[in-house]
Formats: sequence, C-alpha cells, structure tokens
Amino acid sequence: MAVLVTGGAGYIGSHTVAELIEHGEKVVVADNLSTGHKGAVLDVPFYAVDIRDSEEMTALMQRHDIDTVVHFAANSLVGESVQDPLKYYENNVAATAKLLSAMVKANVKKVVFSSTAAVYGEPERTPIEESDEKEPTNPYGETKLAIEKMLDWSYKAYGLKSIRLRYFNAAGAHGTLPIGEDHRPETHLIPIILQVALGQREAVSVFGTDYPTPDGTCIRDYIHVMDLASAHRLAVHRLRSEEGGAESFNLGNGSGFSVKEVIEVARAVTGHAIPAIEVERRAGDPAALVASSDQARRLLGWQPEYADMSAIVSSAWAWHSSHPHGYDDET
Ligand code: UDP
Repeated sequence: MAVLVTGGAGYIGSHTVAELIEHGEKVVVADNLSTGHKGAVLDVPFYAVDIRDSEEMTALMQRHDIDTVVHFAANSLVGESVQDPLKYYENNVAATAKLLSAMVKANVKKVVFSSTAAVYGEPERTPIEESDEKEPTNPYGETKLAIEKMLDWSYKAYGLKSIRLRYFNAAGAHGTLPIGEDHRPETHLIPIILQVALGQREAVSVFGTDYPTPDGTCIRDYIHVMDLASAHRLAVHRLRSEEGGAESFNLGNGSGFSVKEVIEVARAVTGHAIPAIEVERRAGDPAALVASSDQARRLLGWQPEYADMSAIVSSAWAWHSSHPHGYDDET
C-alpha cells in the first residue's frame, strides 16, 4: 500500500511528502516539473510524468500498489488565472478528469484534493464555514470548485472517496529538510517581503489600500505549511477508515492579518526596514479570507501547531535566508 502524490515537487506537495514519510508511509511522486523543482523531490520513487498521461498514470498506480492519491498538481496563481483562464481549465479541470479516469481504471478509490479558500469568492461573513456560499471571483477558484463538483459526482458514480482541503494562505518551511517556498516568478506576499529583506527587491507593493478592512489592506489567514501537511496525512487516514465520502474541510488558523500587519511582523522578525509602496488593487482579490477550521479539528483530529504569525514568518525567513536563491542553492 502506498500514497501517490501528484505535484510532489511543489511547495505544499513536497512538505506533505516529508510528513507522510516521517509517519511511515510509502510515497511515490508524479510531477511534470512545470512549476515544481527536482530539488524538492525527497528520497522516494519519482516520475516526471504529466497527470494527463492516463496510461502511464494507471500503470504506475498498479506498479506501486497505490491505494490513495494526494493530488496537488495544478496551476495556482489568482492573477495569472484572470489573464489566462483557459490555461486553468486545461491544467486544472481537464487534467484532473484524466487523473480520476486513470484512478478508476487502476481501482484506486481515495483522493485527497488540494482545494482553496478562493472557492468562496468574496465571503458573506468571516470566519468562513464549509457550507457558506461559493462564488469564486477568479478562474483559479472557479476551476478548483469545478473539480470539487467533479469529485462529488465521482463519489456517486464510482464510489471514489475524496477529501477536499481548502487552504487559506500557506507559508513557512519544513525546518530541518532543505525544502521551502520557491515560486518562479514569485507572487506571494511573504516570500516577496523576505526578498526585500534579502536585498533582492527594493520594496514590496501593497496591492490596494481602499478595501473595507480596518487598515484598508486585504486580510488573509496564514497557515504553516507543515500544519497543512499534517492535515493531508490525517485525511489519508480518514479515507482509509469506514468514515467519509465526499467531504471538504477548511484549513486556516482562524485569525486574519492584513498586508500591512504582515509587513510589520516581517520587519520585527528580520530587523530590516522593508520599504512598502502602495499601489492599485490586484484583480480577483477578495477583501478578507479567514477560515473556520472547526470541522477539520473535529473530524480529522487536526491541531495546527503554528498559530503565531511571527513563528510562521520566522520559519519562512529561516529558509529564505539560508536559500536566498531557492532550489538553485541546492545544486
Ligand atoms: N499582496 C500584496 N503585494 C504582493 C503580493 C501580495 O499586497 O506583492 C497581497 C495580495 O493582494 C493578497 C495578500 O497579499 O491580499 C496575499 O496574497 P498572496 O499572493 O500571497 O496569496 P493569495 O491570497 O492570492 O492566495
């Protein structure tokens, strides 16, 4: 019995692979390396395969006695999805349909799916609960919601069980293994702020200061990547039990930080002035996204360990300051 991790060379994928291995799971990684890094693949069988290659995917599931797939492989940038929505429909929705077909063919009937807070769009209230209305404000969230629905129907039709984990904002790094956050290009707030602290950028742009929030900047719920990883491990356990079916869980800390507050925390952690400039809003960004994760705590037994924002930023800073050029520093 083994777990197949698609997108296991990516940020959250590689940290989940670490978590699964540390808890005794056999793991296989499939990643086409379009955005992942070879250097992020830990010491497990690795296939540089595209998940659309159904024949190869079915064969490797059978070869490695896969019982559960943890599916990360996707494009995940809100701004890019607004510019090029069809890329997201192709690489997220169509590719996942292919992957699920390969799973059904190989008789693999359990999947943990990497979903997102972006399925909610501009929420009616915070903290957001799983049953709240879903009206994505960008194609990224729309494609993740389409896949959740695909999984609902696949449960009914094929008995394919799923747990969809709706992440809020992932940050931080493993701490002991040489894996961390390295996106090319980097668009995420915390790594960009830390690149300023490293002298790689002049300043951080604050996207919008006229949101209906106390300081006018967007509020997000930042969650440590190893806390996300432990939720995936618990989701695999739940799928293997008699429990579950087609379920979705929010994963966040339940407290929100504004862009300006995150910059302040990073100034304290790094001791760097971190200049900030105020610019226009970025397309597709909701004002505030904060999770209620009560269901994950109750049904998965999940307990995030890093609730404190400065612990999260310190963890990210440890990786960025020791790997200023990301995975290029590993080769
Ligand atoms: N953001 C910002 N400047 C940047 C990058 C991000 O002000 O250079 C803001 C962005 O508008 C959002 C928040 O920071 O409100 C988090 O953005 P990120 O891209 O990290 O994650 P997302 O919320 O899009 O998943």
